[in-house]
Amino acid sequence: MKCPICNSGKIVSQKESFTTPYKASNGDDLVVPNVLVQSCKDCEETWIEAAESKRVGKWIAKERFTPLSREEIKRLRESLPVGTKTELAELLCLNEKAFVKWEKGYNEPNKANDLLLRLIARSRDNFDFVKSLHKKNFKFDASDYFWLQVNEEESDISSADYLSYSYSSVEGTFLSVDSRVQVDSVYDDYSVESSESDFKQPKAA
Ligand SMILES: [Zn+2]
Repeated sequence: MKCPICNSGKIVSQKESFTTPYKASNGDDLVVPNVLVQSCKDCEETWIEAAESKRVGKWIAKERFTPLSREEIKRLRESLPVGTKTELAELLCLNEKAFVKWEKGYNEPNKANDLLLRLIARSRDNFDFVKSLHKKNFKFDASDYFWLQVNEEESDISSADYLSYSYSSVEGTFLSVDSRVQVDSVYDDYSVESSESDFKQPKAA
């Protein structure tokens, strides 16, 4: 096969390791082994074929993601104000056996479910919001997303300011208990009824 760049050179394939810009979980550079690299003897162009590039992309994505362990899942679940594993699975629209399987180590949550677990276990607001979606049959209600409601004409802050302002407010509301009171006074129509203390303390290991 001739080189697609210079149209004359012979293509040589060889396997090389490729250092990504990411870190492995031990802090070392994340290096992909055995990446199939094509190069041309004449023009010295090098490239990776599309299929190989896709494989490498998947490998990197998988290596960068460390799912919650079975013990961590169990601790998160037990901290939530839900009775059974099945009830929680239903609340999260998962297979009813999901927690049984995860906690026994038969399989592990995919990235989306792992993220969902981290989010609902992070604050009572997040947890209650998921519950409220069930209550209204997942009807989309813009008032749940108060930062969508800005009226640009009445606002004297720019869109860019608003974006960063609303983003930090969202962080304040959902992720930081300490700033909650302050955030609520900014958004009078957004009331938070529950508190962090509704979460059960994890059992001592
Ligand atoms: Zn070439």
